[in-house]
This record gives sequence, C-alpha cells and structure tokens, in this order.
Amino acid sequence: MTSASHPTAADIGLDSHTLQVTPGVLTIDLDAIVANWKALESRTVPAECSAVIKADAYGCGLTPVTRKLASAGCKTFFVATLAEAKQAREAAPKAVIYVLNGLFANCGDDFAKIDARPVIGDLNELAEWDAFRRTRGWRGQAALQINTGMNRLGLNPDEARGLAPRIREPDHGIALVLSHLACAEDVANPMNGRQLAAFRDVASEFSGVPASLVNSSGIFLGPHFHMDLARPGAALYGLNPTPGSDNPMQPVIGLKVRIAQIRSVPKDETVGYGALWHAKRPTRLAIVSAGYADGYFRAASGIEGTRSAQVVVAGQRCPIVGRVSMDLMAIDITDVPHGAVRRGHFVTLIGDGITADELSHHFGTIGYEVLTSLGHRYARDYRGAVPGSKTAAEKPATEPEKSPADPEGASA
Ligand SMILES: *Cc1c(COP(=O)(O)O)cnc(C)c1O
Repeated sequence: MTSASHPTAADIGLDSHTLQVTPGVLTIDLDAIVANWKALESRTVPAECSAVIKADAYGCGLTPVTRKLASAGCKTFFVATLAEAKQAREAAPKAVIYVLNGLFANCGDDFAKIDARPVIGDLNELAEWDAFRRTRGWRGQAALQINTGMNRLGLNPDEARGLAPRIREPDHGIALVLSHLACAEDVANPMNGRQLAAFRDVASEFSGVPASLVNSSGIFLGPHFHMDLARPGAALYGLNPTPGSDNPMQPVIGLKVRIAQIRSVPKDETVGYGALWHAKRPTRLAIVSAGYADGYFRAASGIEGTRSAQVVVAGQRCPIVGRVSMDLMAIDITDVPHGAVRRGHFVTLIGDGITADELSHHFGTIGYEVLTSLGHRYARDYRGAVPGSKTAAEKPATEPEKSPADPEGASA
C-alpha cells in the first residue's frame, strides 16, 4: 500500500549487492519513453517524429534511450555535439543524426566518419562545410538552421533566401531546413505565429527540402506548426509540454534514496548549515543520502518562512528541513508512524506523485534542468532496455520491434 520504502533487489531490477551498497536508485522507464514518443508521433503524423537526445538524453542516458527509440522505429535523432553524435551512431547504426550546435572548424572528417549531419547556422560555417565536401568528395548531408526570432543559431531569413537557388543543383546537400520556437510552451504568445509565418516564408523557397519547426511544446500548438519533422526532447522524458494543463506524457524517472540515519531532535534545536531551521516540537528526522551534488538543488532547502520541497516517506509526504547539503539532507518524519521507517529504507525524491516539474519550482528552475542535473552516484535501473551488446552493431536499428497487433503503437 505504501510506496516500496524497503524494496528488494528484484523489485528494483538490480543485483542484491548493488542494491545493498547504493545510496540511491534512479529508475528510468524506457518503455515510458517509447510510449511518449509514439504518442507524439501519432499527434504529428503525417510529419515524421524524431527524438532529441542531447545532454545524455536529458540525463536519462543517451545510449540506452537511443537504442530503445531506434528499435521502436525512430529514424532521426538530434544531438548537440559531435561527441554525442558518436555515441548515438554506436547506439543507432542506421539512424539519421543531426548535430544542433553545428560544425566547428576542421571537423568535417569527424562528421563524415560517422555520417553525422551538421546543423549549419552561419554562412562561414556553410562555406567550410562546402569546401570540405568538395575537397573530400563527401556526399553527406547537412541541415540549415534559420533564425526566426530566437537569435541563438541560424542564418537570418534574407541570408537563407540568398542560398535558396542552390537547391536546383544536383548535389546541394541540404536535407532539412529548421527553425526553433522561443515561446512554444506559452500557447497565447504571438511570437509563435510570427515565427511560423517567417519560417514558412523562407522554407517555401527551399521546395522539396523537408522543414522542421516544433519542439515538444510546439507539437501542441496545432498541426499547422508541424511541417515535415517534429523535434521533441523534454516530452519524451516525461516533462509537461503543456504547462498550466495536465501533463499528457507518462512519467519516466523515479529516484529513491536511502535513509542513512534516523535521529530525534529536542524542541528548539536547529538543523543543518546556518542553523536556519529550528524544531518547534520534539522532532524525528530521517537523514537521507543525497544532496545538491546529486542534483537535488540547495534552493529546495527547508528554510523557515518558505515552502520547502517534499519527499515521500512510507507513502507520506514529508518536508525537507534545514539546508540541503552536498551529500545529505534532513526530512521531518515526526508525523510518520513509529516503526514505519528504519535506517536503510528508501525515501522517494522523484516518483510517487512527485515530478521533476514539481521539483523545478522549488529549485527555482525548469524541469529540463532538474533532469540534466541528475547525479551519477546512485545506481541506475533501466526498465525495458533493448537486450544485446552495448553497441547493437549487429542488429539494424531500423527494424522495429512493434507488435503487429498494435501497428501504430499509439495507445499511449
Ligand atoms: C533542445 C532542442 C529541441 C528539443 O526541445 P524540447 O523543448 O526539449 O522538446 C528542439 N530543437 C532544438 C533546436 C533544440 O535545441
């Protein structure tokens, strides 16, 4: 009935020694990631739905996530850097891989070696890529990024228009034009319509070249935003792409950490660095083995006069008290029945109703930063991992494992 505060190794999918020695368990539900991808795909069809796997797949693990999505039928992946592209190529030998941060000087060979495609956002970068292709006879493709208001990467619309005539050349090498929305999670923001209009205008001059505009939230702005290819990241990993409304995605992440000690604190004593919280009653504390070095931001500390973050202890929400420190934090468990928790049991930091989005409010940030900050000290338990060798090189990544009974897999 209560959350598994003292799960067995089998519950958690780890061997018992790993479970015994770990301060915490991060569970990543790869089946939920696939369900989320399929739900987004069914929303964007007939447009293609890719997957953004930059930043270690938003902290969820680039290799297991890529292998899983490729085996589910995802054909196109976006990473930020060349190093991420190398990892993605090993995990998905047949996939199309775009590198969002583009081409750095003298890196053409590195792209060619793994057949990754740079997303080019500047005329000098394009000139370097063209020169590389010419001198090496490389026929690999690239994407052109067009700035429609983000002013981060991308050619300005007039620069892009100037390049449009080259699509009449047989080996023009432009496989995609893309732009990026600045305010997609804010449905009413007029910026969305302005960017759509500006992008359509330019993209129409690249006729026959697929166009891509939307991230996760952009998918929910409606089909006229979808164009040829959607690029969701956050929503795959369970973050809410529609803030202010119910989350249509399945949760992906669970984080449980171990109680290192249970202690009693007399009334009027203080807890933690800075002595910023004091006991208003005789208090029982669970000191748990996680802190800001594990991605649990210090901003979530239980300082008097603020609403602190909560964790779930034996099925019950309990507040953090005092400063979150590097490796430890204190939970007030006075209201949890005596005997329901012991040293060594697990408490839930994420899961059992607590989402990364909820935590982000206490952390003073967004769910994206919660995920990309997830630590590396706890054991990782991947649910639904694709079996086989680490590289999966012998198995074509494009062969879907979908059951014929569920051809669209869109039931999620
Ligand atoms: C990160 C990123 C995405 C994915 O955005 P989400 O909001 O995580 O869905 C898509 N396109 C570009 C250019 C990005 O940088």
